Amino acid sequence: MAKTTAGYSAKRSALRCIYCGRNVNGLPVIEDHVIHAVRLFKRNILHNEKGYRLVVCKEDFPKYSKAKEEYQKRQGRLVALGVVFALVLIIFGPDKLTAVLDGIVVIVFTYLISLLGYTPSLQMPKPGRERQ
Ligand SMILES: [Zn+2]
Repeated sequence: MAKTTAGYSAKRSALRCIYCGRNVNGLPVIEDHVIHAVRLFKRNILHNEKGYRLVVCKEDFPKYSKAKEEYQKRQGRLVALGVVFALVLIIFGPDKLTAVLDGIVVIVFTYLISLLGYTPSLQMPKPGRERQ
């Protein structure tokens, strides 16, 4: 009960590396729909939204690139699998409308599974600007 709104807003600007958890500078994480959903969930269901500004620090960047690459590959494979499965349902399903709806459910489901290894995107520095 001792936590005040002032304490909360002070925390809001704190940086946090998503790998080592340190309060250090790094490349900022892009707040996409997945992160918004997690924040909404934490704010409204768990009531423990930390409100950090998420970054990836320099030391953890190689780890991040590797994870990101693997995540994108896995997501591509899973969604492709979902699309194939949906097409099979539509082609062989007796009721086309139901088959299309089932197909959409399958694709959404494989997409949600692919989010289990979620790795966010980073705001990369513009290549031409680095020397200024
Ligand atoms: Zn780090």
